[in-house]
Amino acid sequence: MPLIKKLRATFFNNSPNKEWPGLIEAYRSKLPVSKKTPIITLKEGNTPLIELKNISNQIGRGVKVFAKYDGLNPTGSFKDRGMTMAISKAKEKGCEAVICASTGNTSAAAAAYAKKGGMRCFVLIPEGYVAQGKLAQALVYGAEVLSIKGNFDIALEIVQKMANDYPLTLVNSVNPYRLEGQKTAAFEIIDALGEAPDWLCIPMGNAGNITAYWMGFKEYYKAGISKNLPKMMGFQAKGSAPLVYKKTIEKPETIATAIRIGNPVNREKAIKVKQESNGQFEAVTDSEIINAYQLLGSEEGIFCEPASAASVAGLLKNSKKVPENTKIVCVLTGNGLKDPDCAINNHKATFHKGLEPDLRELTKVMKIKQI
Ligand SMILES: *Cc1c(COP(=O)(O)O)cnc(C)c1O
Repeated sequence: MPLIKKLRATFFNNSPNKEWPGLIEAYRSKLPVSKKTPIITLKEGNTPLIELKNISNQIGRGVKVFAKYDGLNPTGSFKDRGMTMAISKAKEKGCEAVICASTGNTSAAAAAYAKKGGMRCFVLIPEGYVAQGKLAQALVYGAEVLSIKGNFDIALEIVQKMANDYPLTLVNSVNPYRLEGQKTAAFEIIDALGEAPDWLCIPMGNAGNITAYWMGFKEYYKAGISKNLPKMMGFQAKGSAPLVYKKTIEKPETIATAIRIGNPVNREKAIKVKQESNGQFEAVTDSEIINAYQLLGSEEGIFCEPASAASVAGLLKNSKKVPENTKIVCVLTGNGLKDPDCAINNHKATFHKGLEPDLRELTKVMKIKQI
């Protein structure tokens, strides 16, 4: 039995009371850590792989669609997977302060892990384009927030310069430990499915996550733990799709603020992933994103953030091209609670306001008859 499976068996089957130890302990042998590395963890990872039955039925032809719901990580996004590694390694080398540029989720994760590890955390965010929940998190976790009049790409340029000239560790996805941590999501998918999916659908911003997943899939493949490799399907929002249109976008725009990035730092790596996996990059419109976002909520019981829904929007756009009897995994990168404004402004639910607290009036509005 592969080591990872044995570990899982030990933790779950044999000793149901043992807690998940966090992804570094669970996948220690596959990560660049040693006995000297202080592990800073919030027990991230081990997120559910949920079958999307209604979406599978909609596509038909025996296709099974699953969501890797990484919005259930401790700070509500997959960024925790990378951050437990980046912050543990920063702590190991004695770092006292970390810095990142962020559309929101990186800052929330960086703040939580850095503070847990006893470090200062500086975050540069684009003013007016960070979802409320994410900003709230950075503040509560005790980050030192610097909001700039400029977009993410400008913020990243600045923090890269700062990390060169000041005693600050950069924890954006240019930090190689981020990708090492994030690749564990691919391990978990294979551990759950027993094989790699046929397609992996994933949103792309800086394209660190698609790179990390591919690292993980290849690692398990080379170790003989899985016998196949997925086609990597990367999706970007139409107004913010530098990897699709093969050019830097000066003024990226999209409702999906987590992927509102015009100049992705992992551009070259992502292009290689696409080539090696025989994958595809495609753009989805904001309205396609919102449709998928509503569908996930109202038919699958999953509330993700708009950027995450780009993976499902992309799949639905390509649904006729999906070969029959295949398994597809869509990565849901972040939790919907992070962006309540988007939810309130874009729902199709019934919402009657200003009603009297009167049984008869209420049941009339409900169009429900007495038994
Ligand atoms: C960071 C983020 C992305 C984009 O990931 P990259 O690694 O930058 O491509 C997508 N969705 C959410 C919710 C994110 O926080």
